[in-house]
Amino acid sequence: MTIQWFPGHMAKARRQVTEKLKLIDIVYELVDARLPLSSRNPMIDEIVQNKPRLVLLNKADLADKKLTEEWMKHFKDNGIPSIAVDSQTGTGMKQIVAVSKEILKEKFERLAAKGVRHRPIRALIVGIPNVGKSTLINRLAKKNITKTGDRPGVTTAQQWVKVGKELELLDTPGILWPKFEDELVGYKLAATGAIKDAILNLQEIAVFALKFLTEYYPGQLQERYGLEEIPEEIGDLFDEIGKKRGCMMAGGYIDYDKTSELVLREIRSEKLGKLTFDRLHEI
Ligand code: GDP
Repeated sequence: MTIQWFPGHMAKARRQVTEKLKLIDIVYELVDARLPLSSRNPMIDEIVQNKPRLVLLNKADLADKKLTEEWMKHFKDNGIPSIAVDSQTGTGMKQIVAVSKEILKEKFERLAAKGVRHRPIRALIVGIPNVGKSTLINRLAKKNITKTGDRPGVTTAQQWVKVGKELELLDTPGILWPKFEDELVGYKLAATGAIKDAILNLQEIAVFALKFLTEYYPGQLQERYGLEEIPEEIGDLFDEIGKKRGCMMAGGYIDYDKTSELVLREIRSEKLGKLTFDRLHEI
């Protein structure tokens, strides 16, 4: 799904999240573990305001583990707890409930002291498109989706997804826009497949990705394409990969579009190993 974000859409998305904040105890901010910075909404602090928040670094299975730990420490240093999760297999799911309970302990104790009966924690998942919101909701829900407002004409009732006895999620996540005004962020989102359609030029994304791999993951790049050395010129690197993988056009020329497609497909499907595109020093 690719959403074209216009000012009107942004205002609407923001309003929808703001309305739902009234119903919940905690916000789960879903980010891509390969892009813990670039996959965040630029106005997230303002939007979430003072609601307790838990950052979930999703797709942790695809990210560089050491850097995921560094990013978690960074979030912690900024007062935001975080957990690395993999919504596809379910890694980290138990921790979500445990950490949420810890974050909300005082609030629930206060409510209990006032005589309010104990109830499940209520949460809202927010994040940019393709970060894994639906996958996470389905993974948490298993088959426990309780429909409370699916009759025609009932538009105000929210639907809650029960997660065991202790957590309830709003079944519609808050979809927020990415930081697309920053070109580098755009390349990173495109390289990881967070932006699915070719909004940016395919070859430009591949050039960015290959330069990035040359700088940060030279070993993985060399191993994948059997390169004894990585050529200094990006054009030479394209030529070598294209030749090795048979991405050729008539006349023996390298097909750069085909080579770009191949490299990007392999990056996205973990063939180049686990990769994290955001670095702490870039902050
Ligand atoms: P949404 O737009 O935020 O709801 O994103 P989706 O739930 O539709 O997920 C987008 C893509 O990411 C899908 O192809 C999912 O299968 C994939 N995905 C979601 N979570 C994970 C994860 O933890 N690991 C991996 N490897 N892929 C994931």
